[in-house]
Amino acid sequence: MWRRTLPLGLALIVGLFCALVPLAVAAELPRVRLITTGGTISNRPGDRLSPAELIASVPDLDELVEAETEEFANVSSSSLTLEQWLHLSRRLNTVFAEDPGLAGIVLTSGTDTLEELAYFLHLTVRHERPVVVVGSMRRPETLGYDGAANLHQAFRVAADPGSRGRGVLVVFNDEINSAREVTKTDALRLQTFETRRYGALGVTARDRVVYYRRVERHHTAASEFDVDQIQRLPRVDIVMAYQGASGDLVRAAVDHGADGIVIAAAGAGTTSGGQRDAIAYAHEHGVLVVITTRTGSGRIAPPKPVPKESAPDTPRRLRVSGEDLAPVKARVLLMLALTVTDEVDDIQRMFGEY
Ligand code: ASP
Repeated sequence: MWRRTLPLGLALIVGLFCALVPLAVAAELPRVRLITTGGTISNRPGDRLSPAELIASVPDLDELVEAETEEFANVSSSSLTLEQWLHLSRRLNTVFAEDPGLAGIVLTSGTDTLEELAYFLHLTVRHERPVVVVGSMRRPETLGYDGAANLHQAFRVAADPGSRGRGVLVVFNDEINSAREVTKTDALRLQTFETRRYGALGVTARDRVVYYRRVERHHTAASEFDVDQIQRLPRVDIVMAYQGASGDLVRAAVDHGADGIVIAAAGAGTTSGGQRDAIAYAHEHGVLVVITTRTGSGRIAPPKPVPKESAPDTPRRLRVSGEDLAPVKARVLLMLALTVTDEVDDIQRMFGEY
């Protein structure tokens, strides 16, 4: 009896083991959702790659993650409207809230204004799990298309538990940069997304994802900005300082309804020509002005507080320092800040914290 049933039992156990182990291994793969918005990464002549075609361009992705797909838009980054930004942020918040088992999100974007969208999401997606923004400099039909490699690295970063709590990440060319700090530094080259001065947060090495530092400022789960409470983003314009500039562009922004203005000043906050008077004009009209630098890096210190007793009749100063934020990022933060408050001290606090 035993002689007959033992081999049968063993065969059953081995059979079950062989059937279940691959299932268990497959179930252990982290689940990552690809959400697409368009850009060069999916821009082939005649039409655009679908999310499924993007996934298919990455060899052996199914050994790395369980990928899901969703198309949000299929346009260039600069064609996305601010309303779409709000919808996208709400969507990412909903995806995380409804799917606690999701490891992370990979988001494709055109590269031209990617750093603006990424910073907006860094301030408004209020979850610890990673959102990894990715794109490509070369089109899919081009020799050396970088989209597949960038996507592969983005999925690795999104699936890695070490990426949690680091805010929105931008992955290109094997480097991981923070959405707060990254800039498109070259119009054409593959090595274009960089963090000047501070350097990358980490790299996607051959063996693993490696981080070297964290961003100190608040973001994502620690953010006070709630996109569900925002119907529209206020108008904030950017004006650059240059030798002998007239103040006309600043005045025009005020006269056309800007709620805030960011100055991309020279050096550590200098304006030129008629701009100083034009900024005073903005203040008289209640328009807040944030000073940033056009140099690409460096910090603009907040102005020294003027005690009310010493100058009781001075008009309310509506000038805020942009700290070390690039002008385009300062604009994103100012748009969000103005949805919460118009108190200059509170907005200065936000520039110190985010
Ligand atoms: N014009 C494109 C865009 O920003 C550029 C790119 O994707 O690289 O959508």
